[in-house]
Amino acid sequence: MALLDVRRVGKAFGGVHANSDISMTVEPGAIVGLIGPNGSGKTTLFNSIVGHHPIDGGEIYFDGRPISKLRTSAIARRGLLRTFQQTRIYARMNCTRNMLVSEPHRGEGVLDMFRKHEAERHEHAEQLLEFAGLYDKRLLYAGDLSFGQQKLLEFAMALMNEPTMLLLDEPTAGINPTLINGLIDRLQRANEERGVTLLVIEHNMRVIMNLAERIYCLSHGRLLAKGPPREIRDNRNVIDAYLGGQ
Ligand code: ADP
Ligand code: MG
Repeated sequence: MALLDVRRVGKAFGGVHANSDISMTVEPGAIVGLIGPNGSGKTTLFNSIVGHHPIDGGEIYFDGRPISKLRTSAIARRGLLRTFQQTRIYARMNCTRNMLVSEPHRGEGVLDMFRKHEAERHEHAEQLLEFAGLYDKRLLYAGDLSFGQQKLLEFAMALMNEPTMLLLDEPTAGINPTLINGLIDRLQRANEERGVTLLVIEHNMRVIMNLAERIYCLSHGRLLAKGPPREIRDNRNVIDAYLGGQ
């Protein structure tokens, strides 16, 4: 059974059909890619999935239950989280603090945050900073990290909520090649060691080809192609969509 099941979802902004009739499935434990030229509707689909806005048509199931009428916080509590194209960290807080304030989504609310033992949360935060390669930087302001390190921090912050599934919106955009490899390695390890299912929007073809077992390609708000990486890379419609988009 699919963990995420998107069925014929549509979303328009005024006259702009950002998503039309999109269906997609992600199996538990999978890493699936989502590609498409700028403006093809990728971020809109993420926003629809996590309840950022109401959808116009279709249905979205997570873990066998419909979620399209739920709020983002309720969806997060079920274990489905997203990260943003632009990082959302608190620049004037240190990394550990960022980790600690990122956690309440998964609980019943802020009160839950206090129920869990403070020392335990702190230890969890530091473990994840270590996992992200940021342990040495834990007392630095997040705003003083490089952009790539901020992306790693944001990823670690999402893991603080112990998600079942993460939606990552262009995790490698604007990062230098060395850190890209570090980040990809962490995504794979989160998937393999922590069992986090991933749906990744990615512009870098080399990255997504290596990372994903299946790729969906959007164009003008519609699903253009789906299949294994090699098939997508050689798909004539996909190639044309990218060339046409430039
Ligand atoms: P992508 O992430 O693939 O670059 P988006 O989902 O951001 O594409 O955008 C798809 C289309 O929807 C674009 O034409 C964009 O301008 C439009 N769009 C996205 N969000 C909004 C919004 N909040 N209001 C109006 N139009 C939007
Ligand atoms: Mg986008």
